[in-house]
Amino acid sequence: MNTAKEVNDRIKEGKAVVYTAEEFKRMLRAGEDITPRDVDVVTTGTCGVMSGTAAVLSIPVAGRGAFARAKSVLLNGVPASPGPCPNENLGIVEAVLYGSTPSISGPMEYGGGHLFRELVEGREIDVEVDSGGKIFENTVTLEDLEFARIITTRTSVKNYTGFLNKGSDAVRTIFSVANGLKGPCKELSVSGCGELNPLENDPLGESIGVGTGILVNGAPGYVIGTGTRSSPEKPNLSVFADMRGMNPEYMGGFRTSDGVDCITSIAVPIIVTEDTLPNLKILDEDVKLPIADIHDRIPFAEGSYADLWQGTDMEVYFDPARCIGCDDCEVESYCPTNAFLRSGGIDRARCFNCGACLNLCPERAFKGNLGRIDVEGNEVPITLRQSNRARADELSHELKEMILDGRFTLTDPVGSLR
Ligand code: SF4
Ligand code: SF4
Repeated sequence: MNTAKEVNDRIKEGKAVVYTAEEFKRMLRAGEDITPRDVDVVTTGTCGVMSGTAAVLSIPVAGRGAFARAKSVLLNGVPASPGPCPNENLGIVEAVLYGSTPSISGPMEYGGGHLFRELVEGREIDVEVDSGGKIFENTVTLEDLEFARIITTRTSVKNYTGFLNKGSDAVRTIFSVANGLKGPCKELSVSGCGELNPLENDPLGESIGVGTGILVNGAPGYVIGTGTRSSPEKPNLSVFADMRGMNPEYMGGFRTSDGVDCITSIAVPIIVTEDTLPNLKILDEDVKLPIADIHDRIPFAEGSYADLWQGTDMEVYFDPARCIGCDDCEVESYCPTNAFLRSGGIDRARCFNCGACLNLCPERAFKGNLGRIDVEGNEVPITLRQSNRARADELSHELKEMILDGRFTLTDPVGSLR
């Protein structure tokens, strides 16, 4: 039975064997017989639209005694909740900001998730505090905040549900972009990183537990426990990490047809033991993807994550030769991460590989096979991916490198997820 201490000792001796989940699954598909003696750690990962992401910030606003306490707070026009600590007469405002909260001036364009990324990018943020009639303003960067942590109430959900619309009118929902999810049964919106997902590889919490060290958006963080609506069949995690050290490419805002949401990425090491190995052998083909109508969200059909991630393209490409420079470019207008400009093509640091551009562009200037799923005898095309498997793989590689070169120390949990 491997423990974190034993693995950490092997890392120091240069003897540890660490694979990313993608490398590990490739070995399994090649027919290799892997035992706990062959590998110490598998690094798993997920990157997706995760609504249950918030930040707790401590923001300097004015001098001591300038105001008693904040009644409301706006950060780049996005409302945050003052508190929990009132910080009476300190001139500092403590605030909780949700990644899915829209800004007042551009609710479909900008929200908490966008602001999290801008903070991590080192950009200036406008702060406006109403102390009960009197307004105080300041401009801050992440460096000015003495406390800035991301906390998630629900992340790394083991497996999601794919959605389609059985009705004939398009439905505006957070599971669609532009003008909504088209029906009847014309397109599928999907989420989840399948065989790379941490809880897909350790659903019983044999290795992951309270206090497990992880990466959140590239920064060191910890598992707090299970998250909201977590169940033994469909577990998820609650995690936290300091925003300092995060990489903006793993996070940000995501515009849907029903408002803004938030991208978050998590990488989790799983220590290989006789207990964890059977679940680590799970492949996309084994991971079921229930399909539900967006109106009632009751599953009525089923695909698998192989439909999403096997034989499909992880990344989406732009072919400038096919672009005719439309006056009103729908991709520029609706790309959920503002990653596309007619003048510059796809900004890879922003692109989420969601695939929405494939259908938004009438000239088929974007390339990428997103896959299809057989729903009651009809092949329904996947038109939106709310998880970015390429980025999840990248973060699991980063964690592997950090473990091997000693920048990341494995921790044994202090409590169980169960
Ligand atoms: S819609 Fe397509 S063809 Fe038209 S400008 Fe945009 S990318 Fe180019
Ligand atoms: S895949 Fe297309 S629509 Fe999606 S983020 Fe990238 S450029 Fe934007």
